[in-house]
Amino acid sequence: MACMRRCPQCGSSDLFQLAGGYLGAEYRCKRCGYHGAFVVESEEEMPHPGVPEKESPEMNVPLWIRILAIIFLLIIIWVVLPRW
Ligand SMILES: [Zn+2]
Repeated sequence: MACMRRCPQCGSSDLFQLAGGYLGAEYRCKRCGYHGAFVVESEEEMPHPGVPEKESPEMNVPLWIRILAIIFLLIIIWVVLPRW
């Protein structure tokens, strides 16, 4: 198993490695902004960092579109229905 690198400040595994210099690898934490060469290495799998999932806006039709659709339907019904 690959070692997980974690931020020593907040424990997040959201680290990215900066360009390796002569001092060795440096890391930066995306969560708390920690920056340094020291990271915690752990072989445990992180549970899930809890990324909030965005709800897809496809089902969220704006109200005016619904009203337009209803009006459109009423017009179609009024046109199609036989008049008396
Ligand atoms: Zn951190």
